[in-house]
Amino acid sequence: MPIEINHSRCIQCIGCASVCPVGAIELIGLRMVFHPEKCISCGACAKACPANAIKFIPKAGVKK
Ligand code: SF4
Ligand code: SF4
Repeated sequence: MPIEINHSRCIQCIGCASVCPVGAIELIGLRMVFHPEKCISCGACAKACPANAIKFIPKAGVKK
């Protein structure tokens, strides 16, 4: 789970969904829904969020 969306902070601006290169976030009803199986952990959504509602968690176990 590379990101966590804080739904109580989210203002549904769709900024995260529009910057995600792989379509891993979409608005369903009134909620942003994250699809972890699509996410490539780029961090773009967290940077784009104006409400600071996305917490980016770098992939666990990845060593350089
Ligand atoms: S980290 Fe990147 S790939 Fe994953 S949901 Fe955010 S923008 Fe999309
Ligand atoms: S960018 Fe942030 S505030 Fe906007 S829809 Fe995504 S999580 Fe919600």
